[in-house]
Amino acid sequence: MLKTLLHFISGQSVPAVAGEVITLTSPVTEKIYATSASGTKADVDLAVQAAREQLDGGVWGQLSGVRRSSLLHRLAELVERDAQLIAAFDANAIGRPVREAMLLDVPNGIGTLRNAAGWADKIEGRTIPTDGYMGQKTLSYTQRNPVGVVAAIVPWNTPFMITCWKIGPLLAAGCTVVIKPAEETPESALHLAKLCKEAGFPDGVVNVVTGYGNVVGTALCEHPDVDKVTFTGSPAVGRAIQQIAGATFKRVSLELGGKSPQIVFGDADLEQAAQGCAMGLFFNQGQVCASGSRILVQREIAEKFSRTLADIASSITVGDPGADGIQMGAVAKRKQFDNINAYIKKGIEEGATLLAGGVSDHGTGYFIKPTIFGNASNQMTIAREEIFGPVGTIIAFDTEQEAVAIANDSQYGLGATVWTNNLARAHKVAQAVKAGAVGINCWAPIDPGLPWGGVKSSGIGRECGLAGVLAYTEEKVITVLMR
Ligand code: NAD
Repeated sequence: MLKTLLHFISGQSVPAVAGEVITLTSPVTEKIYATSASGTKADVDLAVQAAREQLDGGVWGQLSGVRRSSLLHRLAELVERDAQLIAAFDANAIGRPVREAMLLDVPNGIGTLRNAAGWADKIEGRTIPTDGYMGQKTLSYTQRNPVGVVAAIVPWNTPFMITCWKIGPLLAAGCTVVIKPAEETPESALHLAKLCKEAGFPDGVVNVVTGYGNVVGTALCEHPDVDKVTFTGSPAVGRAIQQIAGATFKRVSLELGGKSPQIVFGDADLEQAAQGCAMGLFFNQGQVCASGSRILVQREIAEKFSRTLADIASSITVGDPGADGIQMGAVAKRKQFDNINAYIKKGIEEGATLLAGGVSDHGTGYFIKPTIFGNASNQMTIAREEIFGPVGTIIAFDTEQEAVAIANDSQYGLGATVWTNNLARAHKVAQAVKAGAVGINCWAPIDPGLPWGGVKSSGIGRECGLAGVLAYTEEKVITVLMR
């Protein structure tokens, strides 16, 4: 019996107006397990209208930050209650082990909701001294108001966590939202919207319209009543969204891709660095925006380090993520499987040395062997383009300056990692690398309280923490003539 997933609009589960559905396929068994509503502009119109009505004329628009805070805390409790279920929705949809979603995605999502709850009643204005108005005294103060109706467009790789990165802060700020989950992963977003209703959020504050990006996503970006688009996904789609949203001057924040460097110096703890690099490379089958896929290693240790990392890669057991002893599951879809294999072929053709893994055969399920290339250069395609799979490229360097130059020679700037035991070097390199977040002797320390986002083609804006909440506000100034 196939599951039937519907939109969630104004507190109700509803089918698509046009009656169309998308089939959802397990990347492990390649069997269809569910259908989801395939939305069109008509569904988007209904959801945006519900969100607008709650904001401008509904209870929500009048609710204090204190009340929004307690609703968000209640939502976090309900997510805690349903943690296993939510982790299973996401893990099964993209073929990863449930324990990974329980390790990172769900606790991080809960933390984000709680962090946002903490800010909801602390969104303060300022009193600004001025020289007055035409010789008369004035009082000027600012308010931070919700930016309005938000369209939240989410990818499939860590869907629940990224949905929380958006809805926690935007609800704290007092906005309403229409979520557009990725085609492959609507279930956790739909469940979260239902939990919002259970927590007591008024109907219409959180809506979900499922369907194709170029239909539902585009309709949201074009909609005249949407005030902001928050998008996580590929740079190509991010660029298209910015252009469409520009026509109506929507606020846009973009969390895009990466080709993040992990810089390993000769003085690092080699075993710790190799384990850490492997984690940064292979977590979620490498389908992570901050995947540390360019591994820059000081030449004096390059050979030994490359062997160690290749041994770790070869020892990873890949297979059905529900089976005992399996460490890595499938990649999310056939398109991913083919793209990743094509990059591995390209790496071999361009002359990098294959140290572990290689091109994977297709049996049942989209399983890719963890792959390491050595003796690569930063000009090779595998060092320049985002592969979004378990493929690492090792590039040797001689000096600190050269390491920074290679790290920065990329269109991307999301994360970076520095592995060294030299404290001053660690800070010097961390400050010189162009990236949104740098980990010293640890990979991608994402935390609900820390701002997350990139520079260059990795995106615009920051999510999470106070920066994430303020991104959903507009500052208004009010001046009173003091007569
Ligand atoms: P994608 O850009 O194809 O899709 C992302 C979302 O956008 C999906 O919901 C999709 O349906 C929607 N979409 C597709 N076309 C659209 C359009 N024309 N208009 C509006 N919406 C549209 O990306 P993906 O393949 O789902 O995800 C992988 C990419 O996301 C990678 O590049 C990865 O690095 C990036 N990513 C970034 C972060 C981050 O925090 N920076 C996190 C996760 C993923």
